[in-house]
Amino acid sequence: MNSRETSIKRAEELGLYNLPYEEARKNIVTGTGGAFREWYSVQKEKIMSMLGATDDDWDNWIWQFRNRTDDLDFLCEVLALSDKEREEINKVAEKYRWAITPYYLALINPLDPNDPIRRLSVPSAAELEGTGQTDPMDEEHTNPAGVITRRYPDRLIINVTNACAMFCRHCQRRRGIGGYDTDSGAQLIMESVQYIRENPEIRDVLITGGDPLTLRNGFLEDLLSELREIRHVEIIRIGTRTIVTMPQRISWDLVEMLKKYHPIYVNTQFNHPQEMTREAITACNRLANAGIPVGNQMVLLRGVNDDKYTVRLLNHELLKARVRPYYIFHAKQVIGTGHFTTSVDTGIDIMEHLRGHTSGMAIPTYIVNAPKGGGKTPILPQYMLDRDENSVTFRTWEGKEFVYPNH
Ligand code: SF4
Repeated sequence: MNSRETSIKRAEELGLYNLPYEEARKNIVTGTGGAFREWYSVQKEKIMSMLGATDDDWDNWIWQFRNRTDDLDFLCEVLALSDKEREEINKVAEKYRWAITPYYLALINPLDPNDPIRRLSVPSAAELEGTGQTDPMDEEHTNPAGVITRRYPDRLIINVTNACAMFCRHCQRRRGIGGYDTDSGAQLIMESVQYIRENPEIRDVLITGGDPLTLRNGFLEDLLSELREIRHVEIIRIGTRTIVTMPQRISWDLVEMLKKYHPIYVNTQFNHPQEMTREAITACNRLANAGIPVGNQMVLLRGVNDDKYTVRLLNHELLKARVRPYYIFHAKQVIGTGHFTTSVDTGIDIMEHLRGHTSGMAIPTYIVNAPKGGGKTPILPQYMLDRDENSVTFRTWEGKEFVYPNH
């Protein structure tokens, strides 16, 4: 066989690896797919008419935020929920707050009880079952000043609000959500800024909450300009899920303001390709065009994305929108979210499937957070099979074994 014939044979062999994914992706809903657009436009019209809204209202983040629904009658009507479901939501609401933006509510297929967006946003009786902790990360004991969380040598978090556009049912910080929206207040925020000023090793500050992009531009700009005055703060990151749950928030005004404080990075959390709608993609593009890199921190969630093909498709859709798949977080043992938890094996299987089957850009790091704030720990499938001072034995993504010199 000549070299061209060998190459063709190998190329055919490689092409065959793709077939199961190509077949599986036909059944995974994306936010730009035809089926999705059909129900989304019907649901959007229905919600707008119930709220007496115009298209301009729909495209305005303040309208979306003010009209977050926590009204059970409204929810039951939009999704045609049964009396049993109504009763369950009512019970859950006594313990855990819920609210959904009109936009995110319209993403739910009302005919599918297992719709992933429904699982992420609509309270379920499973939240009242199972065990877990309220603060598995022990954040309470990592707060040296103001509203700071510090777990690493050179970086820290400022928690500026407990408000979110949508209260995710899997939220890993649900203890902070409380019963009503409240920002952290000028005094605690200034105490936090002062702590950063006094600690020159802090080179990276993450502004989060809750969701900081539920706050007005003026509030954010005051904080950004204070931080930018501190010479040792090299980068500022913003953690927000509004790109996913209220993409209208990524307005021209916002990106024009943010880009004055570069280098700014944004981390978000898309969990399913159904969230990658035209609106969300526009938001991602606006940030990318303003020179703001966006990274995705997916949470591995049972019944939502615990499937290798769903994760692969999500990562491809993210890259198309110029978002880098950054982390896959293993869901923590947070009380009220146990029904979302998968085994670590599930995460490892997904990582095993990604490596080799797609480009390295589409492969995030799978992280298990060590208990008690011990830090992010990367977990990988085992590629190194043996190692001594002379050689290492490893396997490739196809399972072929090699011995390599270790000197
Ligand atoms: S946006 Fe983040 S903090 Fe807010 S509810 Fe969702 S996961 Fe929790």
